[in-house]
Amino acid sequence: MSDALHDLGVAELGRALASRQVSSTEVTQHLLTRVASHQALGAFLAVDADAALAQAAAADARLAAGTAGPLTGVPVAHKDIFVTRGLPSTAGSKMLDGYMSPFDATVVQRLAEAGTVTLGKLNCDEFAMGSANENSAFGPALNPWDTGRVPGGSSGGSAAAVAACLVPGATGTDTGGSIRQPASFSGVTGIKPTYGVCSRYGMIAFASSLDQAGPLARSAEDCALLLSSMSGFDPRDATSAERPPQDYHAAMLAPRAGATAAQPLKGLRVGLPREFFPEALAADVHGAVRAALTELERLGATLVDVSLPRTELSIPVYYIIAPAEASSNLGRFDGVKFGHRAAKYDDLVDMYKKTRAEGFGAEVKRRIMIGTYVLSHGYYDAYYLQAQKLRRMIADDFQACFQACDVIAGPVAPTVAWPLGRMGDDPVKAYLADIFTLPASLAGLPGMSVPAGFGEGGMPVGLQLIGNYFQEGELLRAAHAFQLATDFHRMRPETAK
Ligand code: GLN
Repeated sequence: MSDALHDLGVAELGRALASRQVSSTEVTQHLLTRVASHQALGAFLAVDADAALAQAAAADARLAAGTAGPLTGVPVAHKDIFVTRGLPSTAGSKMLDGYMSPFDATVVQRLAEAGTVTLGKLNCDEFAMGSANENSAFGPALNPWDTGRVPGGSSGGSAAAVAACLVPGATGTDTGGSIRQPASFSGVTGIKPTYGVCSRYGMIAFASSLDQAGPLARSAEDCALLLSSMSGFDPRDATSAERPPQDYHAAMLAPRAGATAAQPLKGLRVGLPREFFPEALAADVHGAVRAALTELERLGATLVDVSLPRTELSIPVYYIIAPAEASSNLGRFDGVKFGHRAAKYDDLVDMYKKTRAEGFGAEVKRRIMIGTYVLSHGYYDAYYLQAQKLRRMIADDFQACFQACDVIAGPVAPTVAWPLGRMGDDPVKAYLADIFTLPASLAGLPGMSVPAGFGEGGMPVGLQLIGNYFQEGELLRAAHAFQLATDFHRMRPETAK
């Protein structure tokens, strides 16, 4: 069955491994060969073939011994924002070029304990700041559907690798949309869980009150399996949610009360915020999202109109809070403890200055400056404090919506993936494109992107689903029902053949 090996998703591959139709060594070798022949996509920053094959051999032994779980022997790859022992961890930055961590991030460690095989590390925007993967110090990742376009960001390498069938599942992080938007742009499925569901320990910090890990894969079922392993309380992260381990796969499969075979979503109230369907929404995206909503209705859901009146404000609020936190978090990169240090300098302060001038890229510097500005004396009240107050109001707006609906639906982004270089000289234009993902991030709510059709140039369009706190199961169940009824998540670009 090796022809279609790379086409198998996480769940399918897990089943093929469990029934011994294929070995982990065989699939790992096959994918390593694909990774090598698809280097031009720029998805991977580091690969350790020997280590991957050793993990695959260990997984095969577990499979033979009958001690395997659903992910044993399944290859994955990690966004290079997670630290890993044994593979360099760069956060897409020259500052951390070649940096070797002494430990694994909790998310990485948990997926390893579940028996997954780590193929390597995936390209991303520098310190996860961006929407196109063009802020990586190691070059862009390309969209497998059209290599002249961006794959989205900041988890661009993760989305590209899954879309091109280089790996069945990958980790990503989402601070303001970086799982959902690249998933949408690259035609894969991704979920950002409720803030606190996945440990941030070992996730290189961008904006700590927003950063959250999650999986990108080919289906809701694949995401459910990965998320079950990645998530859970971690005493090493003070913001980790203290809840028992969750089986998202079981939650996804559990039928809704009142559901029927033909109408698995019967009783599900899907809220459509009118602010998510503005005039400026591209017609192709609007059309695909509307068609997906009609499909949800056919599956039994009812559509209700709701409002998130502060949607537009989420842009200035996010672009104050995220840079503020980033400017503090990135203070640690001073040439002393981690990564890059300038070769020549006069004294300590000069060393700091030169190290940071050389190590950080333009977008990171821009955000550090914005962040220190909004936190400085005299501006703190005018910007940072105001933004915090609005953040609370944005979260309250969602709670008002959830009185009338169970999940919220809309587009992920206002357009399909844009051409490489398009946003290069206009960071604000890129910030504005985050409008539909930022609200859920600011509120700490779970959100996902589900392949829902194609738009201009044959590019994928994602449907965004947002749930209330800890309602990942509801999102995954709705997405799974949609995917049982549609084929968008099974479409592959030429690069994936
Ligand atoms: N595009 C947003 C930004 O540039 C979101 C990034 C993210 O979620 N990591 O900050």
